[in-house]
This record gives sequence, C-alpha cells and structure tokens, in this order.
Amino acid sequence: MRLFYAFELDEPARRALNEALQPVRNQVSARWTHPENLHLTLQFMGEQPAAAIPGLTDALQAASVDTRPFSVSFAGFGTFRAASGLLWVGMASGPEPAWLVSRLRQQLLARGFDVEKRPWQPHLTVARDAVLIEKTLPPWPAAPIRCRIDRVTLMESVRLEGRLVYRPLARTPLNDKQPSDDTFKEDDHEEPG
Ligand code: ATP
Ligand code: MG
Repeated sequence: MRLFYAFELDEPARRALNEALQPVRNQVSARWTHPENLHLTLQFMGEQPAAAIPGLTDALQAASVDTRPFSVSFAGFGTFRAASGLLWVGMASGPEPAWLVSRLRQQLLARGFDVEKRPWQPHLTVARDAVLIEKTLPPWPAAPIRCRIDRVTLMESVRLEGRLVYRPLARTPLNDKQPSDDTFKEDDHEEPG
C-alpha cells in the first residue's frame, strides 16, 4: 500500500482555493490537482504492508495528542525546481505544524519506520507538468486562504481506473485540551539565560 500522512483541507478552504486557482488554470498549461485531492503532505511513507497500519496509526495518535489545533493560511506560488513542472502554493503558519511533523518522525523512528531526513517543506501541490513561460510564477490572485487544522490523516494513494484517489485510513484529532504553553516544552532545550 502506498501511504502518507496529510492535512486535509476543510471545505471552505478547498472551495476558496479552487476559486482562487480558476483564473490561473486558464493562464498556465498544467495537469491541475483535482480539487478533492488537494492536501498537504506531512510525511510520505511509500510502499508499506497492511500489517504496518496499526503501528502507523499509533505513531500518529502519539504525535497528535501533543499538539493543539491551529490555523494556517495558503498564498503564493512556488516550484522546487522550475524545470520540474510541479507548482505548489505556500503555507504560512505558527510553529505547530513543523512541531507536529518532528513529533511524528520521532514516533515513527521509535517504531522502526524510515522517515525522510530532509527538513519538512510545507507545500500544497496544485499542478504537475506546469509550463511556465519564461519560468515566471503567476502572481497569487486572491487573499490568503485560511484553514483550520484540527486533525491529521493517514492516507492511502491508489489508482482506480487510472484515476488518482486518496483514501483516508485513519483520522486522528489534534488535542484541544493541550495547553498552549506546554506545546513546545519538550523541544525547548535552552537553558534560562
Ligand atoms: P502522482 O504521483 O500520480 O502525480 P501524487 O504525487 O499526488 O500523484 P503520490 O505519488 O501517491 O500521489 O503521493 C502522495 C503524496 O506524497 C503527495 O503529496 C506527494 O507529493 C507525496 N510524495 C510522493 N512521493 C514522495 C517522495 N518521494 N517524497 C516525498 N513526498 C512524496
Ligand atoms: Mg507522486
């Protein structure tokens, strides 16, 4: 099974993003992400046996219980390499999502899973095979789009009759009882100065 962890977008954010992208879809030739597939990947797990799902769900729960729900906002286009044709929308947030990813990676390592060693670069993939004229990114055509994140999803990526479909296998709520002052405690190794 091809698995990854993701933030799903809530319906208003999905709709707003879809509307914001509409004019750009007419300007840039690309394979645009189907609106229902828009998501933000936290950690790609690749091919995993079904037997791994309980451990992957456990790791997700352990990481989620330490993190409060938070808001993010999406705006601005980017590419990792202009030639790659992958077009993404950037995400601005407080420190919570990066904290959550690092907790999740710790929990996965503790259970014997391999994790990506690269720093996490939050990005919302909106198009593939984008042909950018003069390599210029289109201007962001709307106000930043806010989205509340209050859960994390373990997703399966499948092809159904040639169509890419993401299937949620487990959804874990973030912990709204987690006091905000404690959220970053364990990561804060600095001595009082
Ligand atoms: P497709 O590969 O068909 O164009 P996709 O990339 O959205 O579509 P998957 O390849 O199944 O679908 O990937 C699922 C998620 O994991 C996506 O967000 C994708 O960007 C991310 N992903 C895929 N491969 C990697 C990888 N090697 N490293 C990091 N993230 C990855
Ligand atoms: Mg892919």
